[in-house]
Amino acid sequence: MNPGIVTASYIGATILFILALGGLSNQESARRGNIYGIIGMILALLATIAGVTANVGILIGGLVVGGTIGLVLAKRVQMTEMPELVAILHSLVGMAAVLVGFANFMDPNAHFEGAELTIHDIETYLGILIGAITFSGSVIAFGKLSGKITGNPMLLPGRHWLNLGLLIATIYICKMFVDQSAAGQGGGLMPLLIMTGIALLFGIHMVMAIGGADMPVVVSMLNSYSGWAASATGFMLNNDLLIVTGALVGSSGAILSYIMCRAMNRKFLAVIAGGFGTTSGASSAAEGEQGEVVALEPHEVAELLKEAKEVMIIPGYGMAVAQAQHIVHEITKRLRDKKVNVRFGIHPVAGRMPGHMNVLLAEARVPYDIVYEMDEINDDFPEVDVSVVIGANDIVNPSAQTDPYSPIAGMPVLECWKGKTTVVLKRSMATGYAGVQNPLFFKENTRMLFGDAAKSLEAVFKDL
Ligand code: NDP
Repeated sequence: MNPGIVTASYIGATILFILALGGLSNQESARRGNIYGIIGMILALLATIAGVTANVGILIGGLVVGGTIGLVLAKRVQMTEMPELVAILHSLVGMAAVLVGFANFMDPNAHFEGAELTIHDIETYLGILIGAITFSGSVIAFGKLSGKITGNPMLLPGRHWLNLGLLIATIYICKMFVDQSAAGQGGGLMPLLIMTGIALLFGIHMVMAIGGADMPVVVSMLNSYSGWAASATGFMLNNDLLIVTGALVGSSGAILSYIMCRAMNRKFLAVIAGGFGTTSGASSAAEGEQGEVVALEPHEVAELLKEAKEVMIIPGYGMAVAQAQHIVHEITKRLRDKKVNVRFGIHPVAGRMPGHMNVLLAEARVPYDIVYEMDEINDDFPEVDVSVVIGANDIVNPSAQTDPYSPIAGMPVLECWKGKTTVVLKRSMATGYAGVQNPLFFKENTRMLFGDAAKSLEAVFKDL
């Protein structure tokens, strides 16, 4: 195909990707944003296939195999497994960057000399470095999110020195690689392999050192890394669209990481350095602060709701597990019909991925205008009659404010205990993702409704 048409299609796809990101910034326009993204991706794929002159069969074969695997996975995955799927997809982007890097390095048709060769080598080196860190880091993140690897941070003694040593080693090896490659005779493979090994270890070490409560930052950070890895691949393949798309993902992921850090009151570097917010074994006050909990039956919760004027619903990961969003919406409608003011308070790190709760509520068609961010409603709790905490735990844990030794110390939380009554729906007294006990459950104005959130809410709905 005419290269001009390919370039024009690439520009069109880039614009669509930018519109997609713009659309995703707002719930009302998110669906449209997704459609822009889908059209942009189809355009990009068609233009890429059309622009290829050799081995088209292999390209289409790869597309069919990859596309089929993607389709089957996306159809099968449960909403609760979404974060793991995203993590594993990031790892694939990283692996692609590594493979393209090696293929690029070994390409017999590439003839670079002088400064051009150095630039080409550094491109390849950086692409493989970022790709390998993204790959191994994402595999560990997948393990942590799916519970296959413990959420506790693995803190090696002298880990900061280890990280610094690895960083200096990669810079030194880069120089070795560039020198050996310039010397010709296919030199440079050894340093490249050693660096890949170091980068893989670094990715593992970086994510292993991060405690459960700080995982949201890791998820968004790996999202950003996968973008930079794609961008590096674009440089290696001389593909402008991949460079731009990667940069868009990389920078939006970096902004998301910043937002997540701010939401958790963490410093980005401290999270990345690992082990932040860990108590290093010191038992936090909350562990001892047990006491009596008061459990209610569904009809009693229904009574509480009937008498309330102001209700705040606080969803968490358990709502996703129970798939309770639909019955939550039914209850919301019923209460609103009775002139109860029902609002939703969404914590930025509720669930297991950024925006997790918003996606679920949108799926159940809960009106957007009653869904509020934490900062918008946290001061309103003294006026709330009943807060209904649905499968949330860490995000409503008062020990984040009171216990400096807690792994979640300093993280802003939804202050539902300041309201008249809080009803917490969960199945047991088990802890949340950060693994800390929650003093909220033992407060005088807290009531527990034990059981699967969807089943409990169905019973409450009947009694309403
Ligand atoms: P938590 O993981 O703290 O708590 C979820 C609670 O839901 C559990 O205590 C569990 O208790 C309950 N639960 C599970 N299944 C059900 C069910 N079927 N019915 C009723 N209750 C159920 O979730 P939060 O949303 O409060 O907090 C999110 C946590 O995840 C934070 O620590 C955050 O840092 C972390 N995280 C967030 C990410 C993000 O991007 N949002 C990414 C990675 C981690 P029980 O077993 O007793 O039912």
